[in-house]
Amino acid sequence: MGQAALGTRQGASRAAARQDLLGLTRQELEAWAEAQGEAAYRGRQVFKWLYQKRGSDPGAWSNIPRAFRGVLAERAAIGRPALVREEVSRDGTRKFLLGLGDGERIESVLIPDEDRLTACISSQAGCALECGFCLTGLMGLKRNLGPGEIVGQVLTLQGAAAPGARVSHIVLMGMGEPLANFGNVERALRILTDPDGPGFSPRRVTLSTVGLVPGIRRLAASGLQVNLAISLSGTTDEQRGRLMPVNRRYPLEALLAACREYPLPPRRRITFEYVLMDRVNDSAEDARRLTVLLRGIRCKVNLLPLNESPLLPFRPSPRQRVEAFQKTMHEGGVTATIRESRGHDISAACGMLHNASEQGLPLEANPASGEKALDTPQASP
Ligand code: SF4
Repeated sequence: MGQAALGTRQGASRAAARQDLLGLTRQELEAWAEAQGEAAYRGRQVFKWLYQKRGSDPGAWSNIPRAFRGVLAERAAIGRPALVREEVSRDGTRKFLLGLGDGERIESVLIPDEDRLTACISSQAGCALECGFCLTGLMGLKRNLGPGEIVGQVLTLQGAAAPGARVSHIVLMGMGEPLANFGNVERALRILTDPDGPGFSPRRVTLSTVGLVPGIRRLAASGLQVNLAISLSGTTDEQRGRLMPVNRRYPLEALLAACREYPLPPRRRITFEYVLMDRVNDSAEDARRLTVLLRGIRCKVNLLPLNESPLLPFRPSPRQRVEAFQKTMHEGGVTATIRESRGHDISAACGMLHNASEQGLPLEANPASGEKALDTPQASP
């Protein structure tokens, strides 16, 4: 039985009662198996089938008793997001439009680099936080993603990867603010880092936030030990508040205090992302202030010239100013790296995910990139 059959062959009301297996941690799946009259370890076996063998057909799960396979077919679903459309950048970055069970659409990105393949995944459909340099913010928030929809993106992207290629890193830098959907994101991270499941080392998973201070504290207390990235992009409250309204709620002092208290494992650093906009936040004074702000925090800074769009009111900093900014930071004793944009020609770069065609927003001219339609979205459980 294929995944679509598992998810769609029953009527909508029956389907609504099905348990999406991807939304459950291993412990929850063990409890669910017990609730179906099976031993807990059967749940662990199902967990391994889902993530280690990436199985989508319980009928083929050979170490699961026939009767339990029948229960799975009757009462469960595997709600992987469906590939709707793919665009391929000149640099090899691949952006996917994914369809969710209720018809909502999100975007995820696969970024190949020499020795790694990074899945950039979304935590919300749209975003409510309205950062001035981000196209996702223009969409508004549609809804939070469930844990299965977050985990499912990784499975769907892995399925789309070239033969033999394995997703090696995960970044929650797609659509949405992960800490605004903390419960579902936390559960998804527990699944993704479970050695009996996908088994991603926390060192290879990065959560990026604009700085929701209570969420940073909850992440610290969770013990998940994934990497933390903070989108900063401003060096005074007045400046950052104009670019990122969230700063009015959690100003720099509170944000950086939470970063100082963050329990970093040995040899790890917090990453600060700084989007450089021409004559907005890229002065020598900004660079000097930034080095002072970050004093006492084990960190590195990624400098990202703005990904330009006709929909945004800012321009990227010219290369000369970017390099001058970096030099000032180095002189102030802070490691700063200039990050090259990936997938800009297909609007897959940082801050550019926005389902343009779905939102009625203009797509950028993109003659060199490949685009193709894929499956029709399947109903989820
Ligand atoms: S940068 Fe992140 S938090 Fe800000 S609008 Fe974009 S998706 Fe939302």
